[in-house]
Amino acid sequence: MSAVTTDPAEASACTTTGDAESALCATAPLRLMAVHAHPDDESSKGAATMARYAKEGVDVLVVTLTGGERGDILNKAMDRPEIRADLAGVRRAEMARAREILGVRQQFLGFTDSGLPEGDPLPPLPDGCFALEPLETAARPLVRAVRAFRPQVILGYDENGGYPHPDHVKCHQVTIEAFEAAADPDRYLDCGEPWQPAKLYYFATFHRARFMALHEEMVRRGLESPYAERLEEWVEDHPGHEITTRVPCADFFEVRDQALLAHATQIDPDGGWFACPREVQVAAWPTEDFHLARSVVDTEKPEDDLFAGVRDSVRCIGG
Ligand SMILES: [Zn+2]
Repeated sequence: MSAVTTDPAEASACTTTGDAESALCATAPLRLMAVHAHPDDESSKGAATMARYAKEGVDVLVVTLTGGERGDILNKAMDRPEIRADLAGVRRAEMARAREILGVRQQFLGFTDSGLPEGDPLPPLPDGCFALEPLETAARPLVRAVRAFRPQVILGYDENGGYPHPDHVKCHQVTIEAFEAAADPDRYLDCGEPWQPAKLYYFATFHRARFMALHEEMVRRGLESPYAERLEEWVEDHPGHEITTRVPCADFFEVRDQALLAHATQIDPDGGWFACPREVQVAAWPTEDFHLARSVVDTEKPEDDLFAGVRDSVRCIGG
């Protein structure tokens, strides 16, 4: 993959304060946007891929729909009263650190975390949360961000949200809405100049083939695999989207792990995220994987580059 240099002519004069009203603008010819529900999601899905593209000069922007205010504290060492008292502030600081580690830009889009409902029957979602917003209200800041940043490639969740958190499902819905509406001059009239993204991918991170490969490599090395039970019960992937694109990014697994650890309230350093040694991952599954869900450019599958079919046209236009 060739390096991409920053073309000052591509940079726009709009502000970069990072709040929901002033969207971040493009600074490089190739641009990748990752749409996530909560701070920490960017570090657990596609993080090594983003770090690799950012290192190669691609302008990478993470947009985070909610502030993660209703996340549980999943790391015992961080479960302290002063952290609970300002979880939103703590999570913003964690996000800032993770963003620095990954070498990407990031913008909160200003919605309120819906929380993960638990119990039987499930409790109702809290008033004013992201998942209860009407689609157009929920998609508006994302449409504005897409039109300002003008990404060729957008990464998002599939229709199940990757896992059934209401914010993740909503995140999928607004990503589809923004991908389809951003180029339409008759929609979202107050959200900037229309922009046609070229490709939309779904993250395909937690699929059976990958966990099977990790499991087999651990067994081969005489290590105790944490995945045996899970794999026995795992009949098939849902919704089972075809993996169209595998991006080699093993050199950035360490960066990914550091970014995950920056989310200290959410990630237990002794927990499942780190149950498989990095060298096993590098040997058994050195890619992050994606499903090409929409494309307006021609591309040959399988791909190993999210910008396949895009690079040549960018070079033509950019000269
Ligand atoms: Zn999440």
